Amino acid sequence: MNYIVMDLEWNQSPLGKEFEIKNMPFEIIEIGAVKLDEQLNEIGRFHKLIKPKAYKDLHYKTKEIVHLTMEELNKGEPFAKAIKAFLEWCGEEYIFCTWGTMDLMELQRNMKYFGMGEVYTTPIKFYDIQKFFSLLYEDGKQRRTLQYVVDYLHLGEEFPFHSALNDALYTAFVIQHIDFEHIRKNYSIDCYHIPANRKEEIHAVFDTYEKYISRGFETKEELMLDREVLALTCYACGKNCRKKIRWFSNNNSKTYHALGVCKEHGYLKGKIRLKQAENGLYYAIKTTKLVDEAGAEIVRQKQNFLREKRRERRRRIALLKDEGR
Ligand SMILES: [Zn+2]
Repeated sequence: MNYIVMDLEWNQSPLGKEFEIKNMPFEIIEIGAVKLDEQLNEIGRFHKLIKPKAYKDLHYKTKEIVHLTMEELNKGEPFAKAIKAFLEWCGEEYIFCTWGTMDLMELQRNMKYFGMGEVYTTPIKFYDIQKFFSLLYEDGKQRRTLQYVVDYLHLGEEFPFHSALNDALYTAFVIQHIDFEHIRKNYSIDCYHIPANRKEEIHAVFDTYEKYISRGFETKEELMLDREVLALTCYACGKNCRKKIRWFSNNNSKTYHALGVCKEHGYLKGKIRLKQAENGLYYAIKTTKLVDEAGAEIVRQKQNFLREKRRERRRRIALLKDEGR
C-alpha cells in the first residue's frame, strides 16, 4: 500500500459567485502529488498544469495565491487527460493524504463535470495531514496553514508555497517528520459519494468515539425515523444503550443530541449532523462517545437550555397576542 500525497490548485468564477457553475464552483488548474512507500520513502512525483475550460479567466484571489498565468495554463493538458494519467500513476493500492479536507471533494466534482464520474463510487478513506498536526501538536481542533507547520517543524522553505507539487512535497515532509504510524488510525472519510445502501454504511471506531455514516434518504423526516440512525449502540461492547434523553434538536434541526447508558460502560452521548450529499439525498453523520457524569450533565444542560428558550419564546408570543387585544 502506497501513500499518494496530493495537492490541487483551483480557480473560481472570475465574475463572482452568481456566475459560478453550481456543481463545480472550483475548477482544478494544477495537480501535484508525491508517492510514498509504506516506509514513507519517496518513490515518485507527479505534476500537471490543466488547461481551464469552465472559467476562462483567473479570479483575482487565484491570481494572488497561485503563481500561474492564463498563458501558462492554456499550455496545460485537458482535465480528463491529466487525471487519467494521474490515476494510472497512482497505481492499484494506495491511500490519499491531503492538507485539509477539500481536495478529494473538488477532484471528484471536477471528474463528474468532465465526464469521469465513474472512477470512485463509495466514500473514500484518507489521511488529513492538517488534522494530524493539530491532534499531535495542538488541541485537535485548530487548523494551521501548511506554511505555518513547515515553519514550526523547521522543514525548510526553499520553494514557494501554493504550487501544487511544492505543497505536496511539503505535506510529504510533514508526514515523514511526525509520528505518522501512531496518528494514522485517526483517518478521515470523504463523503462526496455517500454509502449507497445499508450494507455500505460506515461504522468507524476510533480511540474515544465512533463515527457512523448513513446511506441517503429522500427527506430529512424519513432519515430521522430510521432505526439505525437513531440507535445508541455502545461501541465498546456492541450492546444497545437505554436512552436517558431522546434525540432532541437545536432550533435549526441540523444537529441532534441524545444520551444513553450502557450497563457495562456508562453514559454514551450521541450527536447527529444532518447533511445533504452531492446527489441531493440527505444523510446522517452520527458520533457517539462514552462520557462520565460531567459529560452527561452537559447534554442535560443543553436540553434544559433549549427547552427554556422555547418556553421563553412562547411566553413572548402569548404576551404580544395579549397586547394586540
Ligand atoms: Zn458497553
